Amino acid sequence: MTPDFFDEGQLVGVLTTQPLDRLLDYKAPEGGCWLGAFVEVPLGPRKVLGVVWGPGKGDYDHAKIRSVIRVLDAAPMRNEMRTFLGRAADYTLTPMPAMLRLATRAPGLGDAPSMRLVYRLGSKTPDRMTEAREKVLAVLNDYGGLAFTLAELAEMAGVGTSVVKGLVKQGAVSEEAAPRDTPYPQLDPDYGGKDLTDDQSIGARVLREAVRSRTYGTTLLRGVTGSGKTEVYLEAVAEALRIGRQALVLLPEIALTGEFIDRVEARFGMRPAEWHSGVTMTERRRCWKMVGQGAAQLVVGARSALFLPFRDLGLIVVDEEHDTSYKQEDGVLYNARDMTVLRASLNAAQVVLASATPSLESWANVEAGKYARLDLASRFGAAVLPRMAAIDMRAEEMPGAKWISSTLARAVEARIERKEQALLFLNRRGYAPVTLCRACGAQIGCDHCDAKMVEHRFLKRLMCHQCGETKPMPTKCPSCEAEDRLAPVGPGVERLAEEAAERFPEARIAVLSSDLYGSARALKAHIAEIAEGGADIIIGTQLVAKGHNFPHLTLVGVIDADLGLQGSDLRAAERTFQLMRQVAGRAGRAEAPGEALLQTFQPEHPVIRAILAGDEEGFWTAEAGERRAAGVPPYGRMAGIILSSPNVQEVFDLGTEMARNDRPLRQIGAQVYGPAPAPIARIRGRHRVRLLVKAEKTAPLQQALAQWVAQFRLPANLRLSIDIDPQSFY
Ligand code: ADP
Ligand code: ZN
Repeated sequence: MTPDFFDEGQLVGVLTTQPLDRLLDYKAPEGGCWLGAFVEVPLGPRKVLGVVWGPGKGDYDHAKIRSVIRVLDAAPMRNEMRTFLGRAADYTLTPMPAMLRLATRAPGLGDAPSMRLVYRLGSKTPDRMTEAREKVLAVLNDYGGLAFTLAELAEMAGVGTSVVKGLVKQGAVSEEAAPRDTPYPQLDPDYGGKDLTDDQSIGARVLREAVRSRTYGTTLLRGVTGSGKTEVYLEAVAEALRIGRQALVLLPEIALTGEFIDRVEARFGMRPAEWHSGVTMTERRRCWKMVGQGAAQLVVGARSALFLPFRDLGLIVVDEEHDTSYKQEDGVLYNARDMTVLRASLNAAQVVLASATPSLESWANVEAGKYARLDLASRFGAAVLPRMAAIDMRAEEMPGAKWISSTLARAVEARIERKEQALLFLNRRGYAPVTLCRACGAQIGCDHCDAKMVEHRFLKRLMCHQCGETKPMPTKCPSCEAEDRLAPVGPGVERLAEEAAERFPEARIAVLSSDLYGSARALKAHIAEIAEGGADIIIGTQLVAKGHNFPHLTLVGVIDADLGLQGSDLRAAERTFQLMRQVAGRAGRAEAPGEALLQTFQPEHPVIRAILAGDEEGFWTAEAGERRAAGVPPYGRMAGIILSSPNVQEVFDLGTEMARNDRPLRQIGAQVYGPAPAPIARIRGRHRVRLLVKAEKTAPLQQALAQWVAQFRLPANLRLSIDIDPQSFY
């Protein structure tokens, strides 16, 4: 058995965040250290962060072994967290140091706890009472023994900070230093619950019982947008709070957190901890530390919150579980939804996967009996699902460079007259996807990628959506140097906005696209303004599909419903189905019924037909059938291998060598396809070649992949990355 405490001088094995493939031996520091302790250790001339992972191996010259420098001021990593990181590493074929980096992404973890001044009620009475002074003392009295910062206290009392300072001089308020990382306020599970409808109540009861059981389980919570899924899973959160366990709610999009946090505050009386890239460094460190001490009961965050060191995690909610942003496509390639299930199973915690349009994976897990399923049937209150219809674009007279059909235009006009909102949905950022030279026919591409540059008129630049490179819009064709012959081809949201402005001159038009906002806050403010009626026509990319509430919206026009069906992607149909359903779900949330119109050139396509018929089960059954027949996920296993290098010869040579020497894969019955140029054959100047491995559902794929890859020596500049269960192929 692994001891859980090491005395001074005993050898410990430390996992560091440095890219080394083994644990390093150190001597435990003065005072000893716990198993799991976060430590600072010397590595060459540097000091690096690590975790005490077990006893040292002792296979190294004892005299040369150095001591742990110090133990950091943080709760030791718990056993289940170490197991989680290890299993996640095995599953995704990620080296452990990279996993540890994910789990320690809080800036300043190693810093000594910093202090700040706080103020609380003092023992003396002031010599002279003023109205302002009374206000300060009243706030402190109201909040019992609580301490506040100077700014907080002054703001709550509605007085200047000098009033507080004056009271300090008199001893009526005390001033003291306290650690900067403070616990989050207590949430009250019984603060603001709503009266639930019948099937909401049933759902809430089932989830509450599951949370109380303190065992692992996963439930798919299904219901159309607006059916009250959030209300229901907040009841599960309440139950976790009641039994003293922590809860985590994952959201797919930072822009959604603001609205959600307000809802948490309305439900539990206080704001929860927040974890995502939009949160300040100080706040992230506070969150990381308090989660470990159990002083943050609820965390609302992005997928990386899954790697926070919870002390006793009892519930994880994955909202909009089908959303592709849960798959990390950079660095460690993990799917947060799958990792959630793994983490919960190691913590005896419950998982709730909420969605109006679940992923086929989750659907299959329900069918296989691995997940429970709860359905919320109707929308809350008077709202009903929108009426859906196709606009057959083959029958519409479309002038050149116009994308709004007259059928759609008439529907929009009717909304404007009734003072309702209309949404025109187009999943393409920028002004035009392609810029073409009318003299020589060349299209402007990115210098570093095999991708077209997209014109962003708002920014007055061309941008590569692959690598982010931008350049000013040229006046001359880069190929033939002809002047003023460059023309935009195809629509992006900015161009669509231009057309809408011409067509509906009286309307107030708002464009919602992630690149038009400097910050998440600016975006949030704009969304709130639009939701309150600040626009007649909303033009948006997939950003609008993600769960925002637009109560006045009654018409959704999908400009190009065929857009998602064109790719060679295995999940193209599924994605299109989900996206269209989500967008359509934006219409008619309040009392006014909604309508969704899909412009399409293929109204007879099975996906379009399933969307129009509202036949979700039918769509899933058909899609599942096709995937099962093809032996692809979720009915078979896949791994994508991308080789990339500035040297095109090297990537193809290695790819060919790998495809030939596939014995470890053949031994488990897996097949290799490729090498082939990746769909985007060059990104940031690196040539990319892809191999695809397919195996049966039960085959030990990771093990075989590891053995297979270990056979080859990689040239210095060549990168190999393995993506288990790839979500997108690019
Ligand atoms: P979903 O998460 O399924 O999209 P929400 O939980 O956001 O649905 O509910 C949609 C809207 O209806 C929200 O404004 C929510 O507060 C409201 N709502 C849902 N259920 C109730 C209820 N039982 N009582 C009052 N309001 C409710
Ligand atoms: Zn590029």
